Amino acid sequence: MDDRLTLFGKSYRDGTPLEIQISGGKLISSKASSQPVAEDVFIGPGFQDIQVNGYAGLDYNFLHDDVLALGQISKELFKVGVTTHFPTIITNSADQISKLIRQVVSLREKDKSTNQSIGGIHIEGPFISAEDGPRGAHPKEFVQVPDWDLFQKWIEESEGLIRMVTLSPEWKGSGAFIEKCVENGILVSIGHTNATHEQIINAVKAGARLSTHLGNGSHQLLARHPNYLWSQLAEDQLSATIIADGYHLPAEVIRVFKKAKDEKLLLVSDSVSLAGMQPGDYEMHIGGQVTLTPEGKLHMRSHSKMLAGSAMNILQGVNFLLKNELATLSETWEMASIRPLRLFVPDVDSFQVGEKADLILAKMLPNNSLEILKTIKNGREVYAS
Ligand SMILES: [Zn+2]
Repeated sequence: MDDRLTLFGKSYRDGTPLEIQISGGKLISSKASSQPVAEDVFIGPGFQDIQVNGYAGLDYNFLHDDVLALGQISKELFKVGVTTHFPTIITNSADQISKLIRQVVSLREKDKSTNQSIGGIHIEGPFISAEDGPRGAHPKEFVQVPDWDLFQKWIEESEGLIRMVTLSPEWKGSGAFIEKCVENGILVSIGHTNATHEQIINAVKAGARLSTHLGNGSHQLLARHPNYLWSQLAEDQLSATIIADGYHLPAEVIRVFKKAKDEKLLLVSDSVSLAGMQPGDYEMHIGGQVTLTPEGKLHMRSHSKMLAGSAMNILQGVNFLLKNELATLSETWEMASIRPLRLFVPDVDSFQVGEKADLILAKMLPNNSLEILKTIKNGREVYAS
């Protein structure tokens, strides 16, 4: 069977009209197009979202009777250009975390059509700050000191699928824990933290390389300096993820973070199960009674200023940056695709001949935002608008 596919679009990098050939799941040729290409259609690598708690009413933090139901998350994410995502399991009892890890492993085994879209598991917690504010919505009763034996058990249960952990280095023994993670090829990210400057510096020395949703999961009020935001912003070895839904961070904060982090700033959605759902009032297992507004803001029903998680996907984050002119098209696209991938595979260029064909074709709308036209996963078309 000939699985050859040809795509035409302007390069997301510089607007060059391209003709791209795909075969055997790979990008086999990329050259200047011999025929005219639509002015507003761009082609580039698929989005990689390394923080997805849930989407479209489904939640990786819940046990489902029918594990295959969770495969719908991958399919819904294809529609918004996400070719790879990391199910994110947050603070819970050790036993429940084990079960939730095994649920993802089982989903990947059983669902051959979407298993490649799960690139790893992100464990966020339970080794985070117990303090109100930095802890965010994570349940306090399950927050605990980093425990390597326990984490190693989870690594085994995940069959190697755990690729990253978000923790706070304020705990005693964090340095040794981080070193063990690094030895085992696991990316350590600092988040939900109340760590001192020295603790952050020591975490970086031990091998931490990322900050999780910088500027969120923190106190409402903070000492002007020193504080954990300055410490992480100033540390060049730390990349940082941000939630650019327009509610978690004001545009001017993103502008400053970008100046500090430059090519080390990247996007995550941190979406919860209500992302991709209709606006309305909902009951969540964490957060309780919440409201999702038509604009995509998810807040506590009683306090419209208290966010109850992110209800946006990464494409909406991309579009927030574009509409507010916080980054160029190529930068924004890379913040949601190649940059997350490079945290795990340094220097990789996934938009190159010979690489796996995970691509998207997107239309630039007059309001300076992207609409996904086609999503290609492993050389196969998995979505067309
Ligand atoms: Zn978080």
